[in-house]
Amino acid sequence: MDLNSYEELLEKAYEKIPENVKRSSRFEIPKVNLRIESRNTFITNFNKIISTLNRDGRHFLGIFLKTAGTMGEIRGQQLFMKGQYKDQVLNRLIENYTKTYVLCSICKKPDTQIQREGKKSYLKCTACGAREEIREK
Ligand SMILES: [Zn+2]
Repeated sequence: MDLNSYEELLEKAYEKIPENVKRSSRFEIPKVNLRIESRNTFITNFNKIISTLNRDGRHFLGIFLKTAGTMGEIRGQQLFMKGQYKDQVLNRLIENYTKTYVLCSICKKPDTQIQREGKKSYLKCTACGAREEIREK
């Protein structure tokens, strides 16, 4: 291999990087907006978050509330949670959910669906075609 084609190769490899970065940075989960009211927490932009995640609200809620260790319910556009929570804590819980139930573990894209088979759940990626069993953390 001569130097020119080596450089060409490097260039080609480099060209691919920004594209991938662009793509993955396009998927951004909105940070929670909180309102604390009589020692309870409302996530006021819950609707926006759940539509970004593109997951069933009840599925998200079941896991989210369990990991937060509290009770709550959807009230209109908002999520009501018993107790006071800091935004960093809730953002981290949402990120964890996203890693397990939304992002493809192969290509890291959010274009996925949850498929159930008996007691097992799979994350099917419509972008790269991967299908991985979901392992609850
Ligand atoms: Zn994928």
